Amino acid sequence: MQVDADLHVHSRYSKAVSRAMTIPNLAENARFKGLGLVGTGDILNPRWEEELLKYTEKVDEGTYERNGIRFLLTAEVEDSRRVHHLLIFPSIEAVREMRERLRPYSSDIETEGRPHVSLSAVEIAELASELDVLIGPAHAFTPWTSLYKEYDSLKEAYGDTKIHFLELGLSADSGMADMIKAHHELTYLSNSDAHSPMPHRLGREFNRFEVEEITFEEIRKAILNRGGRRIVLNAGLDPRLGKYHLTACSRCYTKYSLEEAKAFHWKCPKCGGGIKKGVHDRILELADTEERPKDRPPYIHLAPLAEIIAMVIGKGVETGAVRAIWERFLREFGSEIRVLVDVPVEALARVHEEVAKAVWAHREGRLIVIPGGGGKYGEIKLPEEIRKAPIDELDSVEVELPVEKPRQRSITEFLRKG
Ligand SMILES: [Zn+2]
Ligand SMILES: [Zn+2]
Repeated sequence: MQVDADLHVHSRYSKAVSRAMTIPNLAENARFKGLGLVGTGDILNPRWEEELLKYTEKVDEGTYERNGIRFLLTAEVEDSRRVHHLLIFPSIEAVREMRERLRPYSSDIETEGRPHVSLSAVEIAELASELDVLIGPAHAFTPWTSLYKEYDSLKEAYGDTKIHFLELGLSADSGMADMIKAHHELTYLSNSDAHSPMPHRLGREFNRFEVEEITFEEIRKAILNRGGRRIVLNAGLDPRLGKYHLTACSRCYTKYSLEEAKAFHWKCPKCGGGIKKGVHDRILELADTEERPKDRPPYIHLAPLAEIIAMVIGKGVETGAVRAIWERFLREFGSEIRVLVDVPVEALARVHEEVAKAVWAHREGRLIVIPGGGGKYGEIKLPEEIRKAPIDELDSVEVELPVEKPRQRSITEFLRKG
């Protein structure tokens, strides 16, 4: 069977997270989104653990369920050099053991959702290995709290201790990460890192797993690529939309090439703000191979449905007008992932023709993208030619895209060829 999963979210106990981030809200919005499996996030926080146990039924040691949505025990920790690591636990006992073992090194493990621990990456990875916890770098390339803002290689960070996956983060995709040879043996996770349960946050990136059943053990096998279990699809934002994709000023968001940024000593000549190195440039610095691993699953570029609707009707993503159209699509087709990936465009057009065209343009990679950078998300625009074309003639529309990008498989191609 296949299940769509988002394994990195935060609870309301983490900083800057919506008060609405509760277990019942997560389960409800996961269903709207079309996710069958969600990581709890923040499970090292004892109050979040309590909430999970209160609102879910235990399926097995590492798997919990509410209203048909399964949960795995996950958390993110920040190490002594402010690098974030994602953890997936085999059981609540392993969570409690890890909490005890980290307590001497953390002043906020009882109160924060994402605790800071004064241990190195190696020490955390060794502890994870001892407790059979899966570990990998979170949002591996972002410029503030990721592995590659601090180190030039996985080995430099983790030494010889085994890690199990690499989380791409919103500003990178598989094609970019595969430019580094050492990644070729690792599974990529594409997760949302959501701070709100709203469906334009939760599941904005997800992984499609091929497993026998939805349990920790099966997901573990898939991440380790064992026994035919595997990830068959990574899905997420076009990396150009990520807020740290290009090198840019973190105050006025003016974009710079790497050479310009270096020449300006990383200080913006327009406003004096700091220039942040983009993921795109960071990966080019580290790239060491032209080869690509053969068994890498496809990565498809999606945007949350509410953002597509907001773009089309020119209203804010959290306005009632956007919500009303979003609800009509959900009532008609059941889940957001079905609308974005599976339902034919002619059927979508019966709900809202222009939104249907925008979804089609997404599937085909025919949107105009203005890249993000410096902390500001990129933007997408629907080309006028597509806006004006009749719904049954979309295939023949010629679109001039201003920014050329590496050819990706479109969603349509993915579904046709599997
Ligand atoms: Zn993080
Ligand atoms: Zn500036």
